[in-house]
Amino acid sequence: MKNIEELLSKQNNFYKSGKTKSWEFRKKSLIKLRESIKKHRDEIILAIDKDLGKGEFEAIITEILIVLEEIKFFLKKGKSFSKIKKVKKTLLSIDANGYIHPTPYGLTLIMSPWNYPFNLSLFPLVGSIASGNCVVLKPSSITENTSLIIQKIIEEAFDESHVATVLGTREATDELLSYKFDKIFFTGSEYVGKIILEKASKTLTPCVLELGGKSPVIIDNMKEEYIEKSLKRIIWGKFLNSGQTCISPDYIIADISLKDKIPTIFKKVIKLFEEEKKLHKIVNKKHYDRLCSYLKQGNILHGGEYDNESMSISMTLIEPKNIEQILMKEEIFGPVLPILYFNKKEEIIELVNNICKTPLSLYVFSTRNIFTSYITENLEYGGACINGTITHILNHNLAFGGVGSSGMGTYHGHESFKCFSRMVSICKKDFIKDIPLKYPPYKKRMWAMNILYKHFSK
Ligand code: NAD
Repeated sequence: MKNIEELLSKQNNFYKSGKTKSWEFRKKSLIKLRESIKKHRDEIILAIDKDLGKGEFEAIITEILIVLEEIKFFLKKGKSFSKIKKVKKTLLSIDANGYIHPTPYGLTLIMSPWNYPFNLSLFPLVGSIASGNCVVLKPSSITENTSLIIQKIIEEAFDESHVATVLGTREATDELLSYKFDKIFFTGSEYVGKIILEKASKTLTPCVLELGGKSPVIIDNMKEEYIEKSLKRIIWGKFLNSGQTCISPDYIIADISLKDKIPTIFKKVIKLFEEEKKLHKIVNKKHYDRLCSYLKQGNILHGGEYDNESMSISMTLIEPKNIEQILMKEEIFGPVLPILYFNKKEEIIELVNNICKTPLSLYVFSTRNIFTSYITENLEYGGACINGTITHILNHNLAFGGVGSSGMGTYHGHESFKCFSRMVSICKKDFIKDIPLKYPPYKKRMWAMNILYKHFSK
């Protein structure tokens, strides 16, 4: 393993040299990263397939393309984001100009999970580089093949005094966290997120936590054609990475009048997906056993097949016995989809709040704006998608992040730049303008204070 102390000392010196402050340097770094990714495209796909059994199509769209798009975005917009901006004066600061200097944090630590091992390592990396930071990237130890190709790409594109990878298990993370960084960006589980935040508190290091949670799908009563379209979009979202997605539709709450219709339509719609893949490979034995245990916690309406040898499970629609089952308490993170029903819309709010009060995403399928607004306004969640799933993270103009148990802080596009930069305020006065009223004797200035007081109290 790398000598972390030595590495961080090199990064500190490099950062202090001021090279990362120039946009030209950042631009060249992003281009080098893009070229290195393009050069190793096939190896990335192979590594992801070995680790997660993701096919080429899915690997390109969910892991590689999304990173290339973010690089392209920053190559276009990064220069203007990093410029110093003048702000408007206010009445109380009429004699001074105000400027915002976007400033890098310095040394940043990015830690990523196994489920989108390439995307979730490189996507925040792009934002951190574009904002002028040095980076230590710690990918997940579970997806070893992808971590190795990430390391190769980084080593080819960067000097380690600018960007470096550190591979390894928990010990590696523990060691990294014993050093002072200027910003930590963590994607992973709520459990580990709390550990990271606790450790970061010792050095008062700001943290972004991108965590998970049970993202509900609400289905209103609609005509059959729309139910079919809704289920197609829900299954697509669940099908991605075999349901091992932080914003995967976790469970459905459907209008009770659809109780008989949904299983029939689900069986019809899922044919298209099952022709592509029937059994979904689960990342490891621990998660496979956990998911298999869910299959006993309710009445299976579709699927329920599993294969111990390949550690695979079919897409399963299940009616849980009750919401006290573990199935309805833990984030599912696999191809199992429980369904519950509501009689009155108020029950939806109660159910979601009982199951997981602050999910990462919320999905609502309805043709009635009044229904959609009721749900989106009465629940707390990181982001929502109406009549679709997953799509809200594909638009880099939309901030992505959780709330409460699903995380803190946002990124993607411009938000990534803001996430990895400090917006430093500088106020500049000249030697001519100076408001005399702010100097003593204060008793004689009270008339001016009273005018201001009246002005601001209205
Ligand atoms: P995890 O929390 O187990 O691991 C994440 C990272 O932390 C890995 O790099 C791992 O090596 C490290 N780690 C693990 N245990 C640690 C410990 N005790 N101390 C220090 N570091 C430790 O998460 P995971 O299982 O890899 O990923 C799944 C979770 O991530 C799910 O909860 C999912 O919802 C969440 N997730 C969130 C997002 C998001 O954008 N919000 C995206 C993907 C996954």
